[in-house]
Amino acid sequence: MNSYGNTMPKSGSSSSYLPVPLLIERVARLTEKERLFKLSANGRAFTFDPGQFFMAGLPGYGEAPFSIASGSGKAAEADGSFELCIKAVGNLTNAIHRLKKGDTLWVRGPFGRGFDVNGSSPLRGMKGRDILFIAGGIGIVPMRGLIKTILGDRESFGALTLVYGFKDPEGILFAGEMEDWKASGMAALLTVDKPAPGLSPLKGWKGHVGVVTTVIPGLEINPSKTVAVIIGPPVMYRFAIKSLWDKNIARDDIYLSLERRMKCGVGKCGHCQIGGIYACQEGPVFKLSELKDMPDAL
Ligand SMILES: Cc1cc2nc3c(=O)[nH]c(=O)nc-3n(C[C@H](O)[C@H](O)[C@H](O)COP(=O)(O)OP(=O)(O)OC[C@H]3O[C@@H](n4cnc5c(N)ncnc54)[C@H](O)[C@@H]3O)c2cc1C
Repeated sequence: MNSYGNTMPKSGSSSSYLPVPLLIERVARLTEKERLFKLSANGRAFTFDPGQFFMAGLPGYGEAPFSIASGSGKAAEADGSFELCIKAVGNLTNAIHRLKKGDTLWVRGPFGRGFDVNGSSPLRGMKGRDILFIAGGIGIVPMRGLIKTILGDRESFGALTLVYGFKDPEGILFAGEMEDWKASGMAALLTVDKPAPGLSPLKGWKGHVGVVTTVIPGLEINPSKTVAVIIGPPVMYRFAIKSLWDKNIARDDIYLSLERRMKCGVGKCGHCQIGGIYACQEGPVFKLSELKDMPDAL
């Protein structure tokens, strides 16, 4: 157990250093850049919390961290399969995008401290509360795992609201699923960034325009009942936190995921160090109150 009360990675690879080959059961093209890979557990019992990540890679290309996009607990797949949503940005991720159903991805983990929706770590405390999910861009991937987990146990939570901001209407992820989430009792407010000069207009978009923090002031929030979760690009955090403080939400009720550069996933290489902690182990999920003495964290 580490200093944050996290019992180390939930079950997965037999060794946290040794990747295991997992069969790709399905590849879904979500956008031009993002694909959703369904991985078979191949008889292994992977258990994880939303917000944790796997290291996934290919021989000759290396490996990188990817957030778990699937739900856990009652929302977990009975056969142990799970999904990773991978954006093609470079050498490894482009190679992964060339994989097809039936190919193999090498995976180790799960790693890190996720959202302990049910448990007893310092990240407990979501049950019975209203939850405000604030996602930006690809931050919707780990948020999807959390939302699915919570919707799998819907009656244990209060009002659920998702605010999701993205750059371009064509870049929205999981739009179809969001309709199911709404039908399960979650409000969803989508907003698209104002196009920068010279970029294409919003292609018929009729919804809200502006960064996610322009939506938060208009929300009806009961600060004593609400837990807010922020996952998105680094630039979003300071502004989102300020908007939540304006709504009187306490530091202890603001959760965020800090996706630092990571190489090893097991607290050895030091790439993800913030102050005295390793984000790959003590995070990536933190309460804002845990970061108050770490000015470099945000
Ligand atoms: C905890 C965690 C969870 C993540 N979850 C996901 C996920 O669910 N889906 C997903 O697509 N990506 C995720 N990432 C980012 C992913 O790990 C990187 O995109 C990946 O390392 C890129 O590898 P590459 O070899 O294809 O690109 P590289 O050739 O290494 O880099 C290509 C470009 O991506 C940038 N880049 C590389 N690593 C990161 C990083 N960690 N964060 C931001 N930019 C980076 C580089 O600066 C460069 O511009 C996550 C990262 C972390 C730390």
